[in-house]
Amino acid sequence: MYRKNIWESADSKKMTAIMEFNKPYIEFLSKGKTERECVVQSIALAEIAGFKPLDSFKELKAGDRVYVLNKNKNIALFIIGKKPLKEGMRILGAHIDSPRLDLKQNPLYEKDGFALLDTHYYGGVKKYQWVTIPLALHGVVCKKDGTTVMVNIGDNEDDPVLGIGDLLIHLSQDQLAKTAAKVIEGENLDVTIGSIPLKEDEKFSVKANVLKLLKEKYGMEEDDFVSSEIEVVPAGNARDYGLDRSMVASYGQDDRVCAYTSLRAILDVKDPEYTSCCILVDKEEIGSVGATGAHSLFFENTVARLLAKLGDHDFLSVRETMENSYMLSSDVSAGVDPLFESVNEMKNAAFMGEGIVFNKYTGSRGKSGCNDTNPEFIAWLRKILDDENIHYQTAELGRVDAGGGGTIAYILGNYNMNVIDAGVGVLNMHAPMEISSKADVYEAYLSYVAFLTK
Ligand code: MN
Ligand code: MN
Repeated sequence: MYRKNIWESADSKKMTAIMEFNKPYIEFLSKGKTERECVVQSIALAEIAGFKPLDSFKELKAGDRVYVLNKNKNIALFIIGKKPLKEGMRILGAHIDSPRLDLKQNPLYEKDGFALLDTHYYGGVKKYQWVTIPLALHGVVCKKDGTTVMVNIGDNEDDPVLGIGDLLIHLSQDQLAKTAAKVIEGENLDVTIGSIPLKEDEKFSVKANVLKLLKEKYGMEEDDFVSSEIEVVPAGNARDYGLDRSMVASYGQDDRVCAYTSLRAILDVKDPEYTSCCILVDKEEIGSVGATGAHSLFFENTVARLLAKLGDHDFLSVRETMENSYMLSSDVSAGVDPLFESVNEMKNAAFMGEGIVFNKYTGSRGKSGCNDTNPEFIAWLRKILDDENIHYQTAELGRVDAGGGGTIAYILGNYNMNVIDAGVGVLNMHAPMEISSKADVYEAYLSYVAFLTK
């Protein structure tokens, strides 16, 4: 099977389109380092594109553009199609949570003249990648009076950054003999936040001084950490990568690269035959659990509400709508890294710059835990993409028994829906700096538009 490199075949018009598409993507990454920040940006873009909250509609009709927000961390957008909703939707589903370090409920302590914040890592991280890099705090503090304060330290122009220490090489003889999983222990991923003691305080406490600064900046007390959700993420903006600017370097491209391209696809679609849907979920990196994850009843309930506003109150219609729907589970795939070729089986590997990647299955060992897509559905997709001359490739997540992974595909598959994983190949997945190819980002967007409109 012959696969073409997008850069090789792109004319100057396409080159410009690729580069222009990636500029707002880079901005989206820089401003969207938490699921909440991604939701805020999604709503802003959606409203410009004519989407309105579902609650503002008494009834719905074809062409209506609607969104539903779930607990500020999960959003679903729809364009009502010309065909009855029961005939199924075209769904793009991506996740907007990314691996990171979360502050513990009682995080602040003082030791050896430093104030530190204790964390618990979220998702799959190589812990040694998170030390000695500039870090930022992003999140919310919810107070007892019902107000919520947004926290953002480390990403505004004049902000200080925070960080986690590592042992100097000179004294690392014992540390370097450990396995990579143990070189930095989870309980040692504590963020340094200050070192000046409070002079008015008899104990000259550094912790007291940090609390004083937090009180001044955010009006918060130490107890307010209990009802906060603060994420420790890499500081700094997303950037062009490579002298030729062919790639994007950024934290959180798993899976904001597919979230952004899916979002842009639905924003750019007009009057589809079948109802278009884009759902951006939280909690994928920890098993899609909870109220804002893909397992939540939020999506099903939302479809029931849409049907009701279309005049259909039969709950069976929800089941039929789901069963008749087609979905692209838009999630990243592992691109071939020239430094680590051996984890791949090269006939079935994803190459950067060769287009959107379809994973018929993910899982681990004997495809365990995956949604093994029906070939009938894949044939249907091939036709759509080939008709539009869109570059796509198929891949497995590494060679057999090299490891594995999962996505939200199987969760929607449980509704008896046709689902396949379709996304952008990335390098350094889950590292503080992930790499994508701008050509693939644009091709994913084109694929998603074709999927929604065919
Ligand atoms: Mn992912
Ligand atoms: Mn992931």
